[in-house]
Amino acid sequence: MLAQAAVMRQARGRWSMETVTVAEPGPNEVRVRVVASGICQTDVHARDGFFPIPCPAIYGHEGAGIVEKVGAGVTDLAPGDHVIMANPSCGHCDDCRAGFETYCINAPRLKHSGLRADGNSIAFTRGDEPIHGSFFQQSSFAAITLAMARNTIRVPQDAPLDILAAFPCGVNTGAGAVLNVLKPDAGDSYVAFGAGTVGFAGLLAARLCGCDPIIAVDLFEDRLALARELGASATVNAKDPDLVAKVRRLAGGRGARFCLEAAGFAAALRPALDVLAPRGTACLVGSAAPGVEVSLEMKTIQQGRVVRGCVQGESDVQRFLPQLIDLFAAGKLPIDRLVRHYPHAAINEAVADMLAGSTIKAVLRIEQ
Ligand SMILES: [Zn+2]
Ligand SMILES: [Zn+2]
Repeated sequence: MLAQAAVMRQARGRWSMETVTVAEPGPNEVRVRVVASGICQTDVHARDGFFPIPCPAIYGHEGAGIVEKVGAGVTDLAPGDHVIMANPSCGHCDDCRAGFETYCINAPRLKHSGLRADGNSIAFTRGDEPIHGSFFQQSSFAAITLAMARNTIRVPQDAPLDILAAFPCGVNTGAGAVLNVLKPDAGDSYVAFGAGTVGFAGLLAARLCGCDPIIAVDLFEDRLALARELGASATVNAKDPDLVAKVRRLAGGRGARFCLEAAGFAAALRPALDVLAPRGTACLVGSAAPGVEVSLEMKTIQQGRVVRGCVQGESDVQRFLPQLIDLFAAGKLPIDRLVRHYPHAAINEAVADMLAGSTIKAVLRIEQ
């Protein structure tokens, strides 16, 4: 099977469009014709060499498409099913069995080794050259790809795949952090640090929970304006020298009950904790390079404050993502407002716009 794919040939390089050969689906795998793929910061981290997957490599971990063929043992998916592909997990380790699949002991290998779930075969080749794929067991920057059935989720046939491609990582992470981890009650104050896809998904989920006030913090004024339109009761520019005091005042003086740190850089964690009221919780979802440290004031934590992290919204993707898609269909999670579409071959421009802040969520439309 031949497919067009955006291939990275060296760390920190540019993507090149190449024709690759896709292997046949093995046991518990499906072959998917990709219709759209979100681009996420983690794909940029992969480009920059954060992970062990060797080049040449095909990244992409927010695929949406149509199942073409199923491998042996796949009983719950069939050719023609519309699907999205989410983060993978093994299903049998202690964390998976305890219902915390996002902390799966095998997830680092399944996401970042460049190999299929069996641990040694390769999904893509070009002539005799192996192209490392199976990034998050999907490599959705290829127009045809292989995924594990376990991380492939059937979606309604009439749902727009080029919007659903924002859901598997970005929306899952932000909405999951609020709905599965922080679990605010109506009337709880909520602060969003970072108005990117993850921050907006969290903000929209906080609005669904009835949080009040909802305060958004970001560097970009146009994002803060969109945050006000989509449910923030107040916004503060992250460059404001009086940031912490202002947010605390807006949250009612003692500080906020909940805060989501979705800005994805270390400097945002300290203010995310400092804006909290006693007993408040800050949840960190942004990823950083190994070795990045932050400093916190001990006295702040002593006042019952909690700082914790979570991966991929701690969600059971087969259950949680369909719930989010239902909310989107009902108009309660307007993720389409965050998305800008690009052709597959414009991946380098899409990433440049994303890093410059001019695009919130870049989604590639993938032609065959
Ligand atoms: Zn596992
Ligand atoms: Zn991601």
